[in-house]
Amino acid sequence: MNSKVGFLVDDRYLDHAILRHSPENPERIRKLASIVRERYGNKCLPCQPRAAVAAEIEAVHSSFYLQQLREHIVRSDPYSYDRDTYLMEHSFYVAELAAGGCLELADQIMARDIDYGFAMIRPPGHHAEPGRGMGFCVFNNVSIAAQYLRRQYSLNRILILDFDAHHGNGTQEVFYDTDEVLFISVHQRGIFPFSGEMTEVGTGRGEGYTINIPVFPQFGDAEYTFLLGRILQSVVEQYLPQIILVSAGYDAHRDDTISGTLLTTEWYGLITRMLKQYAHEACGDRLLMVLEGGYNPVSLEASVLATFDSLLQPRQNKIGVFFSERANQLLKNHPLRNYWTLT
Ligand SMILES: [Zn+2]
Repeated sequence: MNSKVGFLVDDRYLDHAILRHSPENPERIRKLASIVRERYGNKCLPCQPRAAVAAEIEAVHSSFYLQQLREHIVRSDPYSYDRDTYLMEHSFYVAELAAGGCLELADQIMARDIDYGFAMIRPPGHHAEPGRGMGFCVFNNVSIAAQYLRRQYSLNRILILDFDAHHGNGTQEVFYDTDEVLFISVHQRGIFPFSGEMTEVGTGRGEGYTINIPVFPQFGDAEYTFLLGRILQSVVEQYLPQIILVSAGYDAHRDDTISGTLLTTEWYGLITRMLKQYAHEACGDRLLMVLEGGYNPVSLEASVLATFDSLLQPRQNKIGVFFSERANQLLKNHPLRNYWTLT
């Protein structure tokens, strides 16, 4: 049986825009959305976002932060909030739609209308902390989706994988003290936002439920596949997530100059096939992918299309992972071994 894939995008996501150039701009998804519609329109279920409501957003963000955003939006300088995260007239509403797009797909996955969802949303979210936005991110979309799944569907084992080139500091902060969300971030060490050390493992009930994998800039397909294959296979078997959410950033691609890592377009297809396998083994195929970064339009487009090709292919049962000595060195002393058995 073919998998049912939901594809969510909306022209209103283009309304968060300013005249000055920013790497995070509407052109990232304008052409890409039309290619996906054209190429996969009859194979995917097209989905429309709704706006997330205040209570859903406040499950992650403080009301003080929301008030602060509104105050900055009325100022004339879009960079009055910080030097990356611009805010203009429509930004608040577009950010509500970005978060709400994830909630819409989450509902459809839980209703079994779709198996896999891909939210082509912006602004991105994984840097946004409960009390502040940063790094182009206004609302933490994937975190708002996870909180919604906990509250609305009483899920208590949610796995979030973040493979954006940058550490998902915001998501980490939201779930740092809970075991109901297991957060795994693989990211380049030493770049923005300068967090995500291996030793950041969670606190209290959440100890062991944050796994950071800071990689070296010269790491590429072989190292990433070995690390994620090894860690996800083991952790999924032991944690038994009820759904897998993915902060799908495409800026660790070798052609994306915002990072130094060397992933190829094909890797994004491969990790998607691996995630399908894990989602099948653990959680009845429930998989929700949420767009984060990706700033080279050419590599972003090719890599997202590779993701869709994999989502729509028949699922593979066993995907072999080759050994990588460099990646194995990194795992040797990783504190995750104190909490999980690597099989
Ligand atoms: Zn990024």
